[in-house]
Amino acid sequence: MKKKWHKKLDKVIKDNKRILTKSADLLSYGFDGSFGQFKPERVVQPISREEVAEVLKLANKHSIPVYPRGQGTCLSGGPLPVKGGIVLDTCRMTSKLIIDSENLTAVVSPGIITSKIKEAVDKEGYFYPPDPSSAHVSTIGGNIAENSGGPRGLKYGVTGNYVLGLEVVTPEGEIINTGGRTIKNVTGYNLTSLIVGSEGTLGVVTEITLKLIPKPKSRVSLLAVFDDLGDSGRAISGILSSGIMPSAMEIIDKYCINAVENYNPAGYPTDAAAILLIELDGHPKAIEEEIRQIDQMCREIGARDVQSAVEEGEQNKLWEARKLVSPAIAKIKPTKISEDATVPRSKIPEMFERLNEIREKYNIELVVFGHAGDGNLHPNILTDKRDKDEIKRVEMAVSEIFEAAIDLGGTLSGEHGIGTMKAPFMEKELGHIGLDMMKRIKEVWDPNNIMNPEKIFPEKGQSKLVLTE
Ligand SMILES: Cc1cc2nc3c(=O)[nH]c(=O)nc-3n(C[C@H](O)[C@H](O)[C@H](O)COP(=O)(O)OP(=O)(O)OC[C@H]3O[C@@H](n4cnc5c(N)ncnc54)[C@H](O)[C@@H]3O)c2cc1C
Repeated sequence: MKKKWHKKLDKVIKDNKRILTKSADLLSYGFDGSFGQFKPERVVQPISREEVAEVLKLANKHSIPVYPRGQGTCLSGGPLPVKGGIVLDTCRMTSKLIIDSENLTAVVSPGIITSKIKEAVDKEGYFYPPDPSSAHVSTIGGNIAENSGGPRGLKYGVTGNYVLGLEVVTPEGEIINTGGRTIKNVTGYNLTSLIVGSEGTLGVVTEITLKLIPKPKSRVSLLAVFDDLGDSGRAISGILSSGIMPSAMEIIDKYCINAVENYNPAGYPTDAAAILLIELDGHPKAIEEEIRQIDQMCREIGARDVQSAVEEGEQNKLWEARKLVSPAIAKIKPTKISEDATVPRSKIPEMFERLNEIREKYNIELVVFGHAGDGNLHPNILTDKRDKDEIKRVEMAVSEIFEAAIDLGGTLSGEHGIGTMKAPFMEKELGHIGLDMMKRIKEVWDPNNIMNPEKIFPEKGQSKLVLTE
């Protein structure tokens, strides 16, 4: 039987094709790129901020949980409808993609796929640097909510560094604007920064103003091959402390190299312990000198080979293969737990040692790749959720990965967010008072706790990761 709020929802979204109610549809909105399956009561697909506002007003009045969702590629459980209610699918909100050349800004709708924005900006001769590996499938709204990063975070920063202003529908259904179109803006509290990375817990982003920058004149990629994982870590520190700032510096360990080569061969050396993939951009003369220095430094530290790729096609091949690491390792075993524990750059070699110990202690398939240039590693555990014994060991291993990152002065998440997966560990990083201050902000913004409940904040007594159903 239809509940009262179901009937009211039919009036808010008049085109009833944009309210999904069939069991199969509901189930298909019940998972993301992480772990767990849930079923919402309704999926709504608004196309305007007014519709979003009406949905939230209704939900707020009836205390119905609302779970904003982009393309569901989240790796921390962010869009999972853990308490049922409404999934608010933003993927049809794609009407605006305006590039303002005079002000070097772009105004975009939240449901647009990030790579489409990058392509449009590129065509106009500008550059939007944030480049999550999922850029071709994830939405800009999802990127804002997670403050997503990517390989270029090293030199150019993450999504949040390019957000000038936002239009947001609050949990009570009010439409507000934060920030604006200017490069500088210090009027009052920085609500834009608060919303960026808030994982859909403070409202729904309905429009975004992005900062663009001029396109670098040239770009070269290098592939440095190491027979020792520790040497590759030392090379990262060496390059960065020499004053060279690559636009990206990625590390891929032997397990990931082999997974990629089995999945879609790219010519990565399968007998190496690790490779560093380095991108330099800027003035061609400066890049020439930087290549020479990096080549020499890597060889002195122990690289067996350093190759450079100048042609666009050659470079794209190297980076496309990097993007395939995630799908490639997913072939190793059916369940993939993807982490993004991040440590200060100087602690990368130590973090590698800790990860090695964890792999051996728990006898698990733990592989590592990631944005090593900024300390943001991606330890991934490949397992099978049906194997109860192994999953118990994986739960303990994941906890130890988080502990290792925090012990080394790092953080639970460099870019994937907290979602459901890391909520139990928040107090460990922030302390009781730090976490409480965040909770108080949430309570003020969302007094009825309808926006994405059970995310970021641990439930009472939730102090460890539970992967078993
Ligand atoms: C293969 C693969 C590679 C990846 N590589 C990277 C990477 O390099 N860097 C990185 O940072 N992440 C990466 N990710 C994670 C993921 O792609 C990003 O977090 C992405 O930003 C999520 O976008 P989405 O559209 O899929 O959002 P969803 O997964 O649907 O949602 C993510 C969060 O955003 C909220 N949300 C979505 N839209 C809105 C909105 N309009 N308003 C308010 N809240 C909203 C949701 O509630 C949820 O909490 C990767 C994922 C995969 C599967």
